[in-house]
Amino acid sequence: MTESRIFLSPPHMSGEEQKFIDEAFASNWIAPLGPNVDAFEREVAAAVGVEGAVALVSGTAALHLALILAGVEPGDTVFCSSLTFIGSTNPILYMNAEPVFIDSEKQTWNMSPRALEKAFDEAKKTGVLPRAVIVVHLYGQSADMKSIMEICDRYGIPVIEDAAESLGATYRGKASGTYGKFGVFSFNGNKIITTSGGGMLISDDLEALEKARFLASQAREPAEHYQHREMGYNYRLSNILAGVGRGQLGVLEERVDRRRAIFERYCRALSGMKGIEFMPEASSGRSTRWLTALLLEPGTSASRRSQIIDHMDRHNIEIRPVWKPMHRQPIFKECRSYPHESGNYVADQLFARGLCLPSGSGLTDEQQDRVISCFKDALELQ
Ligand SMILES: *Cc1c(COP(=O)(O)O)cnc(C)c1O
Repeated sequence: MTESRIFLSPPHMSGEEQKFIDEAFASNWIAPLGPNVDAFEREVAAAVGVEGAVALVSGTAALHLALILAGVEPGDTVFCSSLTFIGSTNPILYMNAEPVFIDSEKQTWNMSPRALEKAFDEAKKTGVLPRAVIVVHLYGQSADMKSIMEICDRYGIPVIEDAAESLGATYRGKASGTYGKFGVFSFNGNKIITTSGGGMLISDDLEALEKARFLASQAREPAEHYQHREMGYNYRLSNILAGVGRGQLGVLEERVDRRRAIFERYCRALSGMKGIEFMPEASSGRSTRWLTALLLEPGTSASRRSQIIDHMDRHNIEIRPVWKPMHRQPIFKECRSYPHESGNYVADQLFARGLCLPSGSGLTDEQQDRVISCFKDALELQ
């Protein structure tokens, strides 16, 4: 294969990152704290319009701390979107709490308010309400937060927004991730902007964020002899990586625009092909289109989907199925889940038919043409 590999969502540097890294070296702030960390936190908070932010080693770590701050205890239940990456749900297990999975709705592919209402109804009947709800904004599309917040507020349950894929998205005129008690961003290498690895916890509750900073620094009390009262973690982001993040944050809007343009171009080229449907965008705001996701024709078999993926792979193009729902994962086989309609999981249908195309903001038009023509060939395969 002579043509170079086209990845799903590779990092895309702006060229500004090195300046911040050089500053860190020049000042010898080679540590999990320092001026880049402080500035990156301020800049992210300002960019999305919240009171504060805490830079951490990963989005998963940010979710873990959010669950602690929400008061989750061993044995508690946490309601969580089923159609997501496992980084959303592993932190529930870290807490020895029990995830209960909520299905998707068709309009947003995200948490179904109807299924959530059902889960709350039953929880109320048994007298065991969840301690928190984790809502995911899949592929940059915000969930129906108005309905979801209305339900959770009625029960007084805190909402944690997993906005790992929706940094730069808007929902009803505000940034995605800023409606719940806590929001979480990820700067993993494949995300819309990256620090190679990293995450951010955001909130308007500065006291809670101070506590997060404390827990993320081994719960070290302010005493010269290293005093400890509680269990902590080593979760703070390095000053060098925060420098990468600052260089990336400056081009966030451009990155979102480019991903959206890539989506539009795929749509123009592939709409009308054999029952193909693209992930919808709700009228409530702007998606990041982190990944261009589409559905193959109804009734597509798993082997057919694999055949398409394999064909692309042979031509050195990485495409992936939509996330396998958590309620179908062996690790969660004992867990409860609530479908959108009785006996019918929307997330299962999205998984069965769903594919994600290469969507990195660095993808050139020529590379995208290669993907489009190869994908058309794959759809013609018998
Ligand atoms: C990437 C991702 C995470 C995890 O973020 P990390 O920084 O890799 O820990 C969590 N949830 C979703 C939806 C993600 O896409």
